[in-house]
Amino acid sequence: MRDGFIPDILDTSIITDIAEVSDDDAINTARELARIQGLLVGTSSGANVWTAKQMAEKYGTDLRKRRKNMKRNGYRNLLCIVLSMALITGLAGCGGKDTAPAYADRYIDLHLHLDGAITTDIAKQLAQIQGIELPAKDDAELTRLLTVPEDCESLNDFLECFALPLSLMQTPEGLSEAVRLVADNILSQGVIYAEIRFAPQLHTDQGMTQEDAIKAALEGLGKTKLKANLILCCMRGEGNEALNEETLRLAKEYLVEDGGVTAIDIAGAEAIFPTADYRELFAKAKELGIPFTIHAGEADGPESVRLAMEYGAMRIGHGVRIGEDPEVLKLAKEKGVTLEMCPTSNRQTHAIEDMSAYPLIDYLEQGLKVTINTDDMGIEGTTLAGEFRYMEKTFGLTAQQERVLLENSVNAAFTSQAVKDELRAQLGFTEEH
Ligand SMILES: [Zn+2]
Repeated sequence: MRDGFIPDILDTSIITDIAEVSDDDAINTARELARIQGLLVGTSSGANVWTAKQMAEKYGTDLRKRRKNMKRNGYRNLLCIVLSMALITGLAGCGGKDTAPAYADRYIDLHLHLDGAITTDIAKQLAQIQGIELPAKDDAELTRLLTVPEDCESLNDFLECFALPLSLMQTPEGLSEAVRLVADNILSQGVIYAEIRFAPQLHTDQGMTQEDAIKAALEGLGKTKLKANLILCCMRGEGNEALNEETLRLAKEYLVEDGGVTAIDIAGAEAIFPTADYRELFAKAKELGIPFTIHAGEADGPESVRLAMEYGAMRIGHGVRIGEDPEVLKLAKEKGVTLEMCPTSNRQTHAIEDMSAYPLIDYLEQGLKVTINTDDMGIEGTTLAGEFRYMEKTFGLTAQQERVLLENSVNAAFTSQAVKDELRAQLGFTEEH
């Protein structure tokens, strides 16, 4: 931080000038400030406008009356004002902590693939209990095999990174333990509720049926203290229609409101096997009363999201490309559809080419029901807490916005009302509901 700024900005007569600053000017100023100072607060428009207003209120200034003429003091003054607010609201440790909401330390993961959540430690444990020899001479090599390579160029390449984790989950014991270990792992990272998804048809290489796989996963779920449910994935592909039908049938058979299988999904290469091919599958799911989410708007564009919503999906896996068509975005907003966004995954699969324009906060500010999730934490080398910190540091996600994200997660969870109430209580949301 440059010398000379701090004494000026702590002068309250400057701070009260914020009331004369328009939202747009505050945003531009914040961006400029971020560029100069490398401050974390400067990249999100919402964060800075919010901070500005908080400070104006703190100093007793009425924004509505005074936000008319601006720029009187020029840009330098504006820079001082925004920096001062950042400092005084506690982002630089100068107080204000009594009123500022805390950043999230408890999380909900609605979009977590079991085969994508196998860390180096978990892989070693799964190999050991099954007597499997891992194709790596040490941890470093194993980690390299389990995590996405730098030259992974697209979602299709990314999807090829699942072979080793899947090979460790082809027996009831391996699959059951994998669910338990993944659940225990995220519980230790602050996750209070998760929906773990997997495709039963990918666990039949060594003789398990899809039903055996579901039973094994349920057994693992019963051994963890984490509050969690299972989502059964159908797979995009060719010639596996009967396998998807079987997944659907079993989902209906095992469907519960909480404590087991609570929904289905479709995963796989969206750009190669488009959502348009799965109209019938989801018509049947709807007829059977099985809740579902659909991976859409990740490798394929907004039309995929529009179709998923047409099929009745109230949750969209990713949906990150929805903004490419304002009409589809508007429709999602009107329907109250929830987006299960996964920042690191979207960066690694190049779902968004320019990560500096990652639209999560923009969608949130436009009123879309956005959530943050991990997708494939083992392959990506991330955690849900890590995703929140990444969004704070890189995009200026605020504590208030985190609260909205978590509320969206609770509201969209495939679980019972009683569990949702419990989660709200754990997150400290009881007064609002
Ligand atoms: Zn996914």
